[in-house]
Amino acid sequence: MGAAADGSAGPAAVAGGPGTGADAGPGAVGPQPGPPEGGAATGGAGSRPALAPYRIRPFPRTLPARPATPACPVITDAAAGVAALRELVAGGEVAVLTGAGVSTESGIPDYRGPSGALRRDHAPMTYQQFTADDAARRRYWARSHAGWRFLAAARPNAGHRALARLEQAGLLAGVITQNVDGLHTAAGARSVIELHGNLARVLCADCGDVSPRAELDRRLRAANQGLRLDLLATGVSGAEEPDRGPTPGVRPDGDAALAEAEIARFVMVGCRRCGSGRLEPDVVFFGATVPRERVTAAMAVVERSRLLLVLGSSLTVMSGYRFVLRAAALGIPVAIVNQGRTRADDRAAVLVDAPLGDVLPALAAELAARPAAAAGPTAGAWPRAAG
Ligand SMILES: [Zn+2]
Repeated sequence: MGAAADGSAGPAAVAGGPGTGADAGPGAVGPQPGPPEGGAATGGAGSRPALAPYRIRPFPRTLPARPATPACPVITDAAAGVAALRELVAGGEVAVLTGAGVSTESGIPDYRGPSGALRRDHAPMTYQQFTADDAARRRYWARSHAGWRFLAAARPNAGHRALARLEQAGLLAGVITQNVDGLHTAAGARSVIELHGNLARVLCADCGDVSPRAELDRRLRAANQGLRLDLLATGVSGAEEPDRGPTPGVRPDGDAALAEAEIARFVMVGCRRCGSGRLEPDVVFFGATVPRERVTAAMAVVERSRLLLVLGSSLTVMSGYRFVLRAAALGIPVAIVNQGRTRADDRAAVLVDAPLGDVLPALAAELAARPAAAAGPTAGAWPRAAG
């Protein structure tokens, strides 16, 4: 897929997952599992680590392990960052590429966030395993069901809203996001390409029905009334304990570390239309490819831009990094605002290492004359799928 749309991307880009999976760090790809187990675990009392069946295989790492050497000074002061970005963004036609860092202030932790213990124990499920194995699919949905309540409650933050204001001020060529949380749209942005899909939609692999996740959630709740969604498997021991904090053990792809005993009790439901058990979230799994037309559309946004502005992404996987490569090949400057180093630091014209919640609202205040029309604080934080 990527090759035709993106000749400069090098090796086939197969790492397009719901989020920047390679961010999970080397620990997440360590121990090799046994084969996936039918029926999953029956409790935490066994001798094997409770999470072992969910470790799959190292996902493809298409890029080197260490961040690039910065090509320009790293600005760590938010105000100085705004000053450096102002002229570039004021020229308009800005292509924006966002990653998990944009949503952390909405309570959705990114892969480098504080839930490090989880990251060490867990690698994302691949599409190959999701589709090949009924037990794995049921396991995915159990964990996703536990994580959904946090994602459904997430609301756009000041950074999302500032970006929508910049768009309404006519300064953006478009927004390309690696996030599957729908928060750009909820904040009022319109030209959004959701590279990895959106967790708010559910697809039936058999009849093609597209349904809102909220509808599936209602049926799953009805079928699983005794389930303890707050019981998490934590740490390498697999010990099960109630969750703590606002988003315990939840990942940007909506996966939560639901306790093994609860996964074993989870009851999946079928398609609302045909009854099939092969329901899928409308997201791009690891091991799957981003649909070609989506890549083409996103690449077109970059190609007609005057600036590529990367926000909250370490660009660790090729599905995002290739846009930087394309911009560089066309001589389009790249500006990056991200907390921590990125894979593209050696290609950046401006590097800002400061919180997006500080930088973006200040930038919008300077460049977007009037506030965006409010996108209702409680009205549909999630795009409603048709049907
Ligand atoms: Zn169906």
